[in-house]
Amino acid sequence: MYNFDKLCVLGAKMVDAPYGVNAEALLWAIGGVESTWGRNNVPRHEKAYHRGGVYFNRALDRRFGCAAHCSYGPWQIMFENVWRISSKSIKPQEMNDTLTALVVSVEWLNQRVIGRGAVTVVDIADAWNSGTHRDRKVPVAYIAKVVYKYNARVANMQE
Ligand SMILES: [Zn+2]
Repeated sequence: MYNFDKLCVLGAKMVDAPYGVNAEALLWAIGGVESTWGRNNVPRHEKAYHRGGVYFNRALDRRFGCAAHCSYGPWQIMFENVWRISSKSIKPQEMNDTLTALVVSVEWLNQRVIGRGAVTVVDIADAWNSGTHRDRKVPVAYIAKVVYKYNARVANMQE
């Protein structure tokens, strides 16, 4: 329905891109890893957010059930983060709208990732995957995949 490359162009205009970071390539790379460039744009249930998981949130579970334990959209943002960033105004089913997912994902990126000091592609990928770049939890393989795709996209854009 949506052209993923164009979503990245659109989203990039709203990203508070740090100096030297190409926002369009960044969105393209993260979406490439998270949803194979939008092809697997379906809610993905995360066990860690389900009852018994380390991130289980009772209030959210009571309200939305397993829909609250899922990540959404081409950039696979966790619903709990959607809830936080939207002041509890966006429901899980609304995240199935790709444009909503784009806007919310960019907002999370601006406020909670770049806004909290992740200003390199490595740190941004780290924070996108593990919540923050400021801890010892460094998803090395994930970061490597994002950086690889980012560099490939930037090179491709310069051709
Ligand atoms: Zn669940």
